[in-house]
Amino acid sequence: MVRVRFAPSPTGYLHIGGARTALFNWLFARKNKGTFVLRIEDTDEVRSTKDSVQAILDSLTWMGLDWDEGPKMNLSSREPLDVSRGQGPHAPYFQAKRAEMGMYQPFVEKLMKVGQAYHCFCSPEELEEMRKKAHLEKRPPRYDGRCRKLSEKQKKDFEAQGRKPVVRFVMPEEGVTEFEDLVHSKVCFENKLLYDFILVKASGFPTYNFACVVDDATMDVTHVIRGDDHISNTPLQVQLYQALGFGDKLPKFAHLSMILGPDGARLSKRHGATSTLEYRDQGYLPEALRNYLALLGWSTSDSQQIFEWKELQEKFDLSGCQKNPATFDPAKLLWMNGEYLRKLNPEELLSRAKPFLEPQPWFQTRSDGEVLKAVTLEREKYKLLSEVPHLVDFFFKEVEYDPEAVQKVLQAPGASDVLGNLKLDLQGAESFSEKYLEDRIRTFCKAKGYKTGQVFHPIRVAVSGRTQGPSLFAMMEVMGKEKVLSRIDSALNLIAQHS
Ligand code: GLU
Repeated sequence: MVRVRFAPSPTGYLHIGGARTALFNWLFARKNKGTFVLRIEDTDEVRSTKDSVQAILDSLTWMGLDWDEGPKMNLSSREPLDVSRGQGPHAPYFQAKRAEMGMYQPFVEKLMKVGQAYHCFCSPEELEEMRKKAHLEKRPPRYDGRCRKLSEKQKKDFEAQGRKPVVRFVMPEEGVTEFEDLVHSKVCFENKLLYDFILVKASGFPTYNFACVVDDATMDVTHVIRGDDHISNTPLQVQLYQALGFGDKLPKFAHLSMILGPDGARLSKRHGATSTLEYRDQGYLPEALRNYLALLGWSTSDSQQIFEWKELQEKFDLSGCQKNPATFDPAKLLWMNGEYLRKLNPEELLSRAKPFLEPQPWFQTRSDGEVLKAVTLEREKYKLLSEVPHLVDFFFKEVEYDPEAVQKVLQAPGASDVLGNLKLDLQGAESFSEKYLEDRIRTFCKAKGYKTGQVFHPIRVAVSGRTQGPSLFAMMEVMGKEKVLSRIDSALNLIAQHS
């Protein structure tokens, strides 16, 4: 049975790289009918925050990455987070809570007992001294193991000085640590480059490497899929598995390629939005972001780009993951979002755009039916949900004339006559359907000897305030006769004021 976990540290929002890791774990679990565990690695007492936990849960929920085990999902009700409970047999899924409940302690004792761990009393100054010395001697700055063999008396003396020890792991100094990586193939580290890493901090809290291994082993995790920034932690973790007697539980590792920005530097804030929720707030659809992220470091042999959600769950496999860095291309994501927006039927589009429409004062007084007609006209054009309000608001609020359009189009010689005549003509219109309007206005142009552009441009600016928008006659149909005529009046007044 496949069991994977996503194990974020809640020290900030869920960034794009984390969202990709979560997605790959989720897809792998679903593809293999396995279990997707969400575990919160909040052992950094200083940097972990509740807000970050909430942002992570919100991001995963928004992306549709539901977890089978993990913090309780109280997605709609927004109850306060309960770190002590969870869904699944291994609750709690918050490491700080697990530490508080003493869940790591037996494993520390076990390692101490078999001589695989020891108390280290070195002060930060002594460690700094050690690093400097190693640097001068051009050696890797590893801990020199001086506390490995402290006598009982030495330990007592340190304790009497008020020093609080950390617990370190006894790393073998010779040989190699190897593991099979599903993305990078065989990975091998020389043990002399590894070090006696800390298992338990002076505060009594476990470190990431320690808590992670204990939890992965006791939660029966079969595959560890994570970013390749963790690849150097893996040999430490492999050693720990062995020392804890969990060798037979060693998971398969898959380290996902790094994500770079378009300039080739590691993806960071200076490349734009990096938080998943920022994409939501900018008007991206979760299905588009998911599809886009799936292609960051993974592909099918025929380089398929757009996947139905179910299809992605069937086609995803770790064998399609590449080791070369992936490049995050915001332009491609935007294009993909447009593709996904075009797949929505107008009703769905309107309902998805509601969070962006609801803050608009005009929206409150309109029925869905009215807004739907306007939204439908431009549905091919949207790339972001957040563009919807601006592209339809001129139907519903007082028309705002773009000064440039006024100057170029409405104040052009003859525009006023054209509009005046057209208004008289349209007053007699028996219908206001797109087709009828087109026939009527074209006939009007012929009868008056106007070129179509001479009429189409000013009427568009007169009724919408803008030079660009939906197809002219369709737009006029949705606006209706009364509004079109009154806006032509407003435009004529404006021209009169300027002349
Ligand atoms: N808490 C670690 C992180 O957020 C998890 C790494 C892992 O998946 O083991 O980077």
